[in-house]
Amino acid sequence: MPAVSQTTQTSPAPLSLLVLGQDSDPHSERGVECPGDLPEPSDPGLVARARAAKEALGDRVFVLGHHYQRDEVIEFTDTTGDSFKLAKEAAARPDAPYIVFCGVHFMAESADVLTSDEQTVVLPDLAAGCSMADMAALHQVEDCWDDLVEAGVAESTIPVTYMNSSAAIKAFTGRNGGTVCTSSNAERALTWAFDQVGGVEGEGKVLFLPDQHLGRNTWARDLGRDLEDCVVWNPHLPMGGLTLEEIRDARMILWRGHCSVHGRFTPEAVETARREIPGVRVIVHPECRNEVVALADEVGSTEKIIRAVSSAPAGTKWVVGTELNLVQRLAKEHPEQQISFLEKNVCYCSTMNRIDLPHLVWALESLVEGRVVNPIVVDETVAEQARTALDRMLALPGERSTD
Ligand code: SF4
Repeated sequence: MPAVSQTTQTSPAPLSLLVLGQDSDPHSERGVECPGDLPEPSDPGLVARARAAKEALGDRVFVLGHHYQRDEVIEFTDTTGDSFKLAKEAAARPDAPYIVFCGVHFMAESADVLTSDEQTVVLPDLAAGCSMADMAALHQVEDCWDDLVEAGVAESTIPVTYMNSSAAIKAFTGRNGGTVCTSSNAERALTWAFDQVGGVEGEGKVLFLPDQHLGRNTWARDLGRDLEDCVVWNPHLPMGGLTLEEIRDARMILWRGHCSVHGRFTPEAVETARREIPGVRVIVHPECRNEVVALADEVGSTEKIIRAVSSAPAGTKWVVGTELNLVQRLAKEHPEQQISFLEKNVCYCSTMNRIDLPHLVWALESLVEGRVVNPIVVDETVAEQARTALDRMLALPGERSTD
């Protein structure tokens, strides 16, 4: 029998290219089906219909909106926030049987994990996924872990996953001794993870999923460590495209994932802003590339960006590198400040924007009629293991006092 080449043995599963809203993809965190008749976007009565449906539902519904949602949706939310703040707020409302989550799929999953069995989480458009979360499929991460076991380093490696990952990846992290982090607490989560394997100064490792940029920025900027300690694991290559020596020498094994919005901001845009707006303060999200983060004045989560802009003296000039819906809203709400968007070639997050007023009206009116559309239900075992990872995050020093 002819020898099978290594490439043939380890060639990755073909990537499924699904048209959003059609068919199903069990390896993806995306929801992909959107049944039912949606109101026409041109319906002039949409605002009145949304108002009437919310009024009819009263306290039975709690509508959450991520900062990256459209204004037309934010208008009907009961609270806004980043993904973790919203999941915690959902958990703090056990009296509301319906949680309508205006955000993306992984956020609604986290809300389902953290709320009671009596509550139902609804995502108004199941095609609202997240390209970053989709870059780490469970079978790929399990293959990676098997390779780390074979390389003899799994025992000294702690997996840490960003909130922006599927419940299945959070569960993987939970059952392998790891935790979840957000863009607000990544430094504390990494410090905790390294403490489990000998400390930041030691020789242990972190497998950071799925956003390589948040992992790299936290290691280099927040922990003041060397960029050369980081390697990138490419799930489409045998052994992540790394040599055994590279794996053994690394301290941070970064999954090759990124945000398709924040990954597009460039150092040139920061330089242009500084040239064109004298005295400008540049603030960016840590999902941006390290070269961009290194040039910024401030780096932080959406909550931190909002706080920084809101509390700055009137007349401060800002250039902001995060999703456009939030930057436009900040500019509208703070006319006393001069606020610009960092990069003219970067557009809205297309999946966040899938939640629009017609989908929200459809979800709310269906609930009024007693029909639950697009419920997000995480498998019980997966939910339990994901909760283990989330609980470890909640137990991080100082976690409960922050958003
Ligand atoms: S902005 Fe980036 S990380 Fe957030 S939902 Fe969109 S693709 Fe995902």
